[in-house]
Order: sequence, then structure tokens, then C-alpha cells
Amino acid sequence: MKVTEHLKNNEGKTLFSIEILPPMKGESIQNIFSALDVLIEFKPLFIDVTYHREEYVYKEIGQGLLKKELTRKRPGTVAICAALMQRYKVDAVPHIICGGFSKEETENALIDLNFLGIDNVLVLRGDPVKSEGVFVPHADGHKYATDLLGQVVQMNNAKYLDSSLQNPVPTDFCVGVSAYPEKHFESPNLATDMKHLKTKIDMGADYIVTQMFFDNQAFFDFVKKCREIGINVPIIPGLKPVTTKGQLSALPRAFHIDMPDDLVKAVEKCKDNEAVKQVGIEWCVQQSKELMQFGVPSLHYYTMSKSTAIKEIASAVF
Ligand SMILES: Cc1cc2nc3c(=O)[nH]c(=O)nc-3n(C[C@H](O)[C@H](O)[C@H](O)COP(=O)(O)OP(=O)(O)OC[C@H]3O[C@@H](n4cnc5c(N)ncnc54)[C@H](O)[C@@H]3O)c2cc1C
Repeated sequence: MKVTEHLKNNEGKTLFSIEILPPMKGESIQNIFSALDVLIEFKPLFIDVTYHREEYVYKEIGQGLLKKELTRKRPGTVAICAALMQRYKVDAVPHIICGGFSKEETENALIDLNFLGIDNVLVLRGDPVKSEGVFVPHADGHKYATDLLGQVVQMNNAKYLDSSLQNPVPTDFCVGVSAYPEKHFESPNLATDMKHLKTKIDMGADYIVTQMFFDNQAFFDFVKKCREIGINVPIIPGLKPVTTKGQLSALPRAFHIDMPDDLVKAVEKCKDNEAVKQVGIEWCVQQSKELMQFGVPSLHYYTMSKSTAIKEIASAVF
């Protein structure tokens, strides 16, 4: 079922949804099941599975020499989606990205998803290759999420790359896109970033999932601005509890987000990471309750494929 249908069927309620990462190459899918088995009691209706492109690694080849190799450390997004749908009877939402894909490869990937009965995709540009810093599109691929979204919309209208196909079937993907209440880090300002977001909605994106944030006011302001410029689709807030002291710098570095002073001071006071985890959980519970009161359609938790903190939060909130 489409994410938007789940939201419509549960209007007036706030759903519980989560994002997981595929395991590192060589690890078992059982790691994912172990994390999800304890969260499934909170009845997520959809589970997002991230997509991780290739990255460079350096391998020692003797005599002090290193070989640079391109590898994907977390493959398996599509297979995990199929496994989740079978095991938990939930809707899996694979993330699809521009990076590393030609248009033809994207088309084939969308055909696979369609044949598997996957009804939703979260359309993203994708992170740059780690160590490159700047996003470089595939020579025959897409530069922005809007371009990739255009291809999905075309396929939903039965327009494939090969225009000579006889009566091609349309796909029917429900499409989510990402947004950044504190703006995307490459954007000159929030208004410009939101202009591009509006384009995505005008092109046919059905709903929005936000980057994590720790100050609800940023989200409230963002939603208000969205409504003012005519973005009327559901906006789902993304949340992550702080669980270690190191995340005070790691999260802003990775996700370009701000942390409120009260949270930073509370974490700094903690003696160990067990105490940090409790502070982070309590903060996230308060955030969740306030967002629920605001009437958000779903609370979407970035689990990083770990369940203990999210279980505590969900127990307190749902
Ligand atoms: C909910 C969520 C899930 C994510 N999941 C993944 C994942 O699974 N895998 C992964 O690799 N990354 C993931 N990311 C990270 C994301 O790929 C990066 O933040 C990436 O840098 C931007 O992606 P985007 O889709 O928002 O890009 P875009 O919408 O393409 O925007 C990128 C930048 O370009 C600007 N822009 C957009 N369109 C145009 C245009 N037409 N012309 C000029 N400028 C434009 C925007 O303002 C922005 O600054 C996720 C992020 C979020 C919020």
C-alpha cells in the first residue's frame, strides 16, 4: 500500500515509522531482523531502507603500497525491502538515489521494485562519494533529485526510456522526497532550498520526510513556510536520539544540523554514554510528544538499525 494511503486511512492519528540501514557487507540480515523484531510491536506501517552508494577504500598490496578500490559497503537495499515485506507484512520504502546510476540502470531498478510489489520510493540525490566531498553525477545519470523524480513520474505515466516499446505498463509508485528544516548544506539559503522542494511537489512528489532536527521550532517554522508557498503534501518529521557524547560533533558534521544549547549542556554533563543515552531518549520523547500534539502524520525514527533507544521512546510515546 502507498504511504499516502496509510496516512489517509489514519488521519488524525500519528503513526510510528522507521528508517533502517542495510547491514555492512559480510554481516547477516539477522541483525536487521533482531533490531526490528523488538520494534514491530509498535506497528510501523512502512519502513524505509536506505541506499548506500560505492565508496573508495585503500587496500595494502605489499611493499608499502596501497591500492584504491571502489566498493559498496552496504549493499542489499532491494533484497531487504522484499524480506521485510514478507516477514513483517509492512510496506518497505527503498531509497533510490541519483549517484552512481545511469538512467537505464535507474529504469531497470524501478522495474525490479515494481515487480516485487513495492509501492513506494523515497527519491534522493544521494550523498557524494565519501572522500570526494562534492556530488558528481553519473555521465548518463541525474544531477538532482528533481531529475530522478522526473524519471519516476514518467514511468508512472508509462513513459520508458525506449519510446519504441509497445503498450508499456505504467508503474504506480508513491513518491517521497527529503527536506531540510535547517536547509540543505549546499543551498545558499532556506528560501532557495524550499523553491527546489516546491518544484518536486509540483512535479508530483506525494509526501516529504525531513532531515533530523533537535529543535521542534525549526520544524514548526518550516511547515509554516511550506504551507505559505503552497506545499500542501504531508510532512513527516525525522527524529534521532543522541546516544553518545561523540554525536555532539558527529551529527552536525554528517547532517549539517544544529543542536539546542540545553541539549548540548545536558549531554556534556553526563559521566558516560549510558547517561547520554538517557538524556537523548528523554529529549526525543519530549520532541515526539510535542510533534504529536502539533498533529504530524507520522513520527519517523532514524534507527541506524539499533533498537533499544527507539523502543524506549516508542514505549513512552505510543
Ligand atoms: C529523509 C532522508 C533520507 C536520506 N536517505 C539517503 C540514502 O538512503 N542514501 C543517501 O546516499 N543519502 C540519503 N540522504 C541524504 C541526501 O541524499 C543528501 O542530503 C543529499 O546531499 C541531498 O539529497 P536531496 O535529495 O535532498 O537532493 P536535491 O533535492 O537534489 O538537492 C541537493 C541540493 O541542490 C539544490 N537543488 C535541488 N534541485 C535543484 C535544481 N533543480 N537546480 C539547482 N539546485 C537544486 C537543493 O537546494 C540542495 O541544496 C537522505 C536524506 C534525508 C533527509
